[in-house]
Amino acid sequence: MVSRVIPVDPFDLVIFGGTGDLARRKILPGLFRRFCAGQMPDESRIIGAARSEIDDDGYRAMVRESIREFGGVSEEQEASIDDFLGRIGYEQVDATGEAGWEALAARMTEDRVRAFYFSVGPSLFGALAERLHSYGMASAKARIVVEKPFGHDLGSARALNATLAQHFDEEQIYRIDHYLGKETVQNLMAVRFGNTLFEPLWNAQYVDHIQITVAETVGVGGRGGYYDKSGAMRDMVQNHLMQLLCLIAMEPPARFEPNAVRDEKLKVIRALDPVDPHHIVRGQYDAVGSEPSYRTDVEAPRSTTESFVAMRVHVSNWRWAGTPFYLRTGKKLRGRASEIAVVFKDAPHSIFGVDKGRHANVLSIRLQPNEGMTLDVTIKEPGPGGMRLVEVPLDMTFADALGPDAEAVPDAYERLIMDVIRGNQTLFMRGDEVEAAWAWTDPIIEGWQSRGDVPKLYDVGSSGPEDALMLMHRDGRKWREIRA
Ligand code: NAP
Repeated sequence: MVSRVIPVDPFDLVIFGGTGDLARRKILPGLFRRFCAGQMPDESRIIGAARSEIDDDGYRAMVRESIREFGGVSEEQEASIDDFLGRIGYEQVDATGEAGWEALAARMTEDRVRAFYFSVGPSLFGALAERLHSYGMASAKARIVVEKPFGHDLGSARALNATLAQHFDEEQIYRIDHYLGKETVQNLMAVRFGNTLFEPLWNAQYVDHIQITVAETVGVGGRGGYYDKSGAMRDMVQNHLMQLLCLIAMEPPARFEPNAVRDEKLKVIRALDPVDPHHIVRGQYDAVGSEPSYRTDVEAPRSTTESFVAMRVHVSNWRWAGTPFYLRTGKKLRGRASEIAVVFKDAPHSIFGVDKGRHANVLSIRLQPNEGMTLDVTIKEPGPGGMRLVEVPLDMTFADALGPDAEAVPDAYERLIMDVIRGNQTLFMRGDEVEAAWAWTDPIIEGWQSRGDVPKLYDVGSSGPEDALMLMHRDGRKWREIRA
């Protein structure tokens, strides 16, 4: 594979929350890798901004440490860290105060792309947008990158959209969902729309059902306070799983352009039926041995927040009428796996007899681990003994397929940040998409609240509550295995 790095013009990038966890783990190491790939012209500037009292050198030391800890740096790259640090600076800024803002504005270079990454809590988004405007930084070439969560319901998302719109045009607002930056997710579009093979079959006539699973082995970590107010529905389904569902279900856009793609995604969300409460299972992980329960982790002994959701969803349109989409996500499950599986219908008639083993074709798209795709096909079991059928995977793991160049595949954050610099919004959510997703999610959560719904317990290290298995069994189907 020849790696092709698209050159960009020099840019200024300000990371609000530049001392925080996300900046240290993802954004800064990602930028360093792009620098090593030759995608950061000499004059580009990266400025960390937060309240901590540090100077440029103090921040550079922190960035160096972050790159070493989280960057997966090779020996060759290690030698480039000093060059990279030459582009780094720091400004002490309080999002809600006035200190530091003039100094920050003075660091901006005239007439070049400037991106402002809001890597801070969502309560500060409005204050940042307002100050960028009042200190003259919201130029025509300015872009803002907004992290999740984008609101906690329709009302708050609308209010946030309205606040940002006071200072920035929609074309300047990049709502980030890092799932969309994953190689496989983009490959999903390449597979669907770059081949003639799949698209004719991509409908209710040939697809039995679709499963989307995002299983995590981790618990709430240090985010217990935030998570307990949010839960799996808000934290994962409304954004990440919804985005994956949209890409799987959408009609072919006329062009691979931001609004063409986002128009099609929006139509999917608007075509979602309200979910029957019998088709949703909420779960909460329970202690096993020395593994604490969710309630212990979030220090809320009576919490009824869900750490797991499984649901059956219908997209009511011509293409998908009658085809269920099963979504499932949870914490502290038996394995870490993000996968979309398109399960095709059985062949209409078996010429080999019913007991010879018939298998459905399954196209599975793995987001993590081992990003790649597998197509399960039925073949004859080799050897004597008559015609016995067996299912084998046609496997394309990207790391294998791309060989030594696989490392050159940027991770989701790096790719998306470079898209911001290039001004490409295709893989970012538009304001109306986010609102439509909340409009669909809100009644589900309100229903739980009004019914006083209590999540079903599941063991740490299991595949989720028994009821989630039943959700599928009742339909004569089963979940794909979550491997440990
Ligand atoms: P964090 O570790 O708590 O960092 C927050 C950052 O904001 C710090 O740099 C903090 O620095 C700065 N900050 C706080 N108050 C400020 C103020 N008034 N003015 C200026 N800076 C201020 O949080 P995080 O985990 O990095 O998350 C940042 C955002 O990304 C959140 O919206 C989160 O939901 C989202 N996110 C995070 C992750 C992740 O993996 N961490 C994943 C997805 C989304 P000072 O204290 O020095 O001011």
